[in-house]
Amino acid sequence: MKPVHCAAVDLGATSGRIIVGTWSGRRLALTEAHRFPNQFRPLAGHEYWDLPYLWGEVRAGLIKARKQFPRLASVGVDSWAVDHVLVGRGGRLVFPVHAYRDGRTAAASERLGRSGIDRVYSLTGIPNYPYNTSLQLQETLSAHPGVAKVAARCLFISDYFNFLLSGRMVNELSIASHSQLIDVRRRGWSRAALDFFGIPPGLFGRPALSPQRLGPVAGFPELRGVVSVLVPGHDTACAFAAMPAAADGSDLYLSSGTWSLLGFESEVPLLGAEALATRVSNERMGDGRYRPLKSCLGLWLLDRTLPAFRSRPRTAGEWRRLIDAAARAPAPAELLDVADPSLFNPASMRAAIESQLKGRGARAPRDLTGYVRLICDSLGRGHAGAVRAFERLAGRAFKRILIVGGGSQNRLLCQATADAAGLPVESFSLEGSAVGNLAAQLVALGEVPGMSAFRSLLSGQLDGTRFPPAGRA
Ligand code: ADP
Repeated sequence: MKPVHCAAVDLGATSGRIIVGTWSGRRLALTEAHRFPNQFRPLAGHEYWDLPYLWGEVRAGLIKARKQFPRLASVGVDSWAVDHVLVGRGGRLVFPVHAYRDGRTAAASERLGRSGIDRVYSLTGIPNYPYNTSLQLQETLSAHPGVAKVAARCLFISDYFNFLLSGRMVNELSIASHSQLIDVRRRGWSRAALDFFGIPPGLFGRPALSPQRLGPVAGFPELRGVVSVLVPGHDTACAFAAMPAAADGSDLYLSSGTWSLLGFESEVPLLGAEALATRVSNERMGDGRYRPLKSCLGLWLLDRTLPAFRSRPRTAGEWRRLIDAAARAPAPAELLDVADPSLFNPASMRAAIESQLKGRGARAPRDLTGYVRLICDSLGRGHAGAVRAFERLAGRAFKRILIVGGGSQNRLLCQATADAAGLPVESFSLEGSAVGNLAAQLVALGEVPGMSAFRSLLSGQLDGTRFPPAGRA
């Protein structure tokens, strides 16, 4: 067969990428056409995204991709969730696009109280976070009531870039599900949640399943003939879609980076008091099924500890030597409680760790090697706790944990997770979001019969490393 080329636009909060995937029937080869930094910008006490800049970079990247691959067939967009663009009927911005880190929703989040949190969780299956779209829109509409008169649609970031490419305003389900406004029992918006937050239902279109074709890229001569495809709009949904998972649903997925995002695929959501106490987020996949997810503090702990040491690793070789040394170090007598809020954003992570250990009468490590050992073992125990909570809540037993992200390169973390969870861990080096985005395009183009067919083709191509749990090798 002739190779097929698709472009994934993968927009992250700190960087964006245009990656071309070349599919030759069995293998997917990736070419990075363009990469650019992203950051929100402060203005008079608020934080905003710079959309004209982002669109300029996406355009430039797609033009480069087309030059490199003149037969480029399609383009799909995934992005970070919760942030959104309010547009008028013709697509003009009617309100500045705030970044999720903006503090404007903190007070309303506090005011929700126990009963508000319980009610919204029972409606939407999404726990309360100050940055949820629900609270952001509530704040916008109460601080500026006139916005409701001029805003015709609310588009999430990936929805908005799809609109710029195709001219179509579509709310894709996976990214919409993170808003805390989708009905957890159906595939539509929750009228009760919209009323609770005072948001007019007319701002949204019926949530669309993905993948599907949106139409030709319009108003962009350099991309004439390229098809705009609706892929799962949320980058985590794309990353999970790319996992080389077993078809029987017995795998847990762990995206291990700044955060540890642990989840699995399910036909039903996890609801109720224990699911809420565990902060299970019932996000949706492109096809409408559920992806219960728990996010725990991840390698941020290590990232923030490193600046306290001059010997911090900078190259892959230095990382390997540090992790090897930590693996040989004695196991710590006490592990960290990684759910302790004092570790979320302390001025000094090393001091915060020392103080937590001191509070329990334990001694802090003396050197970086000791901290790496302590952090990896503690994260492993945290992952195991989430695995057990999922097993209890879902009433099922999982067989493996598949790890992607920066943490997949940390063999100590992989082994600690396997040992604590009593499950084999398989680590993969995978450009998760981009691969899931490209896979969805190939399915929409009819090049691959479906996402599960793609996964089984991909798993033959990937070299995973297996970490059996201690004593069960
Ligand atoms: P995110 O996308 O959430 O910002 P990443 O998935 O890029 O994060 O993971 C970043 C983490 O990966 C770093 O904090 C570091 O602990 C870990 N990491 C990066 N490179 C290596 C390496 N060569 N070996 C082991 N760990 C690594």
